[in-house]
Amino acid sequence: MTTFHEVAVVGGGPAGAFAAWHLARAGVGVALIDPQSTDIAAGQPEHRAQTRLEGLGDRVAHLLAAKGLARALEAATDPVRRSVRWAGLAQSANRERLVDRHLFDALLRHEAVAAGAVFHRDRLAGASVLARREGVRLSLAGGITLHARLMIDARGRQARAGRRLMGPQTLSIAGFVTGGRAASAPGDAAGSDEAAAHVEATPQGWVWDVTHPRLGRWVQISIDAGDLRGAGQAGLAARFRRFLSQEQFEGRCEAGQYEGCVIDGPLRARNCGLVLSAGSLTPPVIPIGDAAVAIDPLSGHGQFWALSSALSALPIVAQLLDDRQDESGLVRRFFEDRVVGTFWRQARVGRDFYRLERDLAVHPYWAARVGWPDAAPSHPPVAASRLERRVVVEAGRLCEREVLVTPMDPDGVAFIAGIAVGDLVRAGSAGEGVTLRPEAARAPHPAIGWLESRGLSPASNEITTSTRSTTTRETA
Ligand SMILES: Cc1cc2nc3c(=O)[nH]c(=O)nc-3n(C[C@H](O)[C@H](O)[C@H](O)COP(=O)(O)OP(=O)(O)OC[C@H]3O[C@@H](n4cnc5c(N)ncnc54)[C@H](O)[C@@H]3O)c2cc1C
Repeated sequence: MTTFHEVAVVGGGPAGAFAAWHLARAGVGVALIDPQSTDIAAGQPEHRAQTRLEGLGDRVAHLLAAKGLARALEAATDPVRRSVRWAGLAQSANRERLVDRHLFDALLRHEAVAAGAVFHRDRLAGASVLARREGVRLSLAGGITLHARLMIDARGRQARAGRRLMGPQTLSIAGFVTGGRAASAPGDAAGSDEAAAHVEATPQGWVWDVTHPRLGRWVQISIDAGDLRGAGQAGLAARFRRFLSQEQFEGRCEAGQYEGCVIDGPLRARNCGLVLSAGSLTPPVIPIGDAAVAIDPLSGHGQFWALSSALSALPIVAQLLDDRQDESGLVRRFFEDRVVGTFWRQARVGRDFYRLERDLAVHPYWAARVGWPDAAPSHPPVAASRLERRVVVEAGRLCEREVLVTPMDPDGVAFIAGIAVGDLVRAGSAGEGVTLRPEAARAPHPAIGWLESRGLSPASNEITTSTRSTTTRETA
């Protein structure tokens, strides 16, 4: 028997579950497919063996709370202190939540089903695009066939891709340990019974070491993907121990940090380098999350990207349900701007972060990463304000609009205090810079105050070039 859905979401990690939740709430007929369950009973005997810990940033917590999905945060701890030893600096200014991903993902799938998504605990075995814009037919491993007008591919790194773009590939090996002493930056008095997270650069790669009284101690090392000899758990354990041995840190870590550490349960190996799998969009399949761009955990940006790319898929779905082949081209442009832009920005931000570790640049792990992908700045400075035509989201739909790009707003602004930018400013007379429209200058409105803050006032009637930088850096 074949069942019909407007949208089939394949993969129920954060990206897929969040997209399915949104679509179901918007009244779209949606199926969610994932081999893992929606069972949120955390005490199952097999649970600890499936658990993996990740850091969850404030942006993800705020986004979930703002959407009414705060329940998913039950899988996360309260924010814990995070110390960093990187580039000769030892600091502990930040905080992050520790999230049990097994439970987090199950909670998000659970919420999607509660919102009306039809859940198939199954694995996609094959998908074929139907002729005459009829959508896509999905065959599940369990024998069920689904027909959907659109498919959202949220299978993470397991998604099939044609041509992939990637830099030096990184492998992470992680697991629970007992013994040793909780890692910390100098001056921090973290005890092993206190919750803390620690990031440290080492000659062979970097380590994320977290301790929590309820969850235990989780250590994740990141090494070059080619730097693993030996197979199976024995090979992983040997490599893990070699990384954690004091000699390998060349005196960088505190004595005793990993002395007497015992691996407690299976180690997990996962590829975690940056990969662009979907440089373009081919309807009716819409890749999101890691299936589009898989993010290096060094950025701490992966879960936020998973959720934000799910949000970007919503206007794409709305548009394609009306205009199946994207005759206007708006969908392709919107998708490619976001996905390809994210890949290059993440690549360059990561490179800059590796470059900070000058002392380690001689070691192969670092030498391979400080020069990739190129020498271009991660956030190119905007020298002069300009107007650009871009695809933006307006009332849940895609449309082309003028966007004002200024040195203070390098990502561009389409509306100011609810007024379209094109109604407020226009291109300068020689096609350069921007000037205030006379009719807008006469109207007292908060938008004028905003433009004045960017150097454009009715008096000067010209946006000046500001040297103020709004560049932000995402770090581990
Ligand atoms: C080692 C490591 C550490 C990380 N640490 C952090 C961190 O601390 N903070 C952070 O923000 N990000 C971190 N990330 C990144 C983060 O894990 C990902 O960016 C995020 O999980 C992407 O979400 P996703 O939903 O796109 O994919 P995934 O989370 O990979 O979900 C994919 C889903 O698809 C399902 N699936 C796969 N194949 C099929 C199929 N054939 N049929 C049906 N379903 C299928 C899987 O079961 C899974 O549920 C880390 C990544 C790695 C590798």
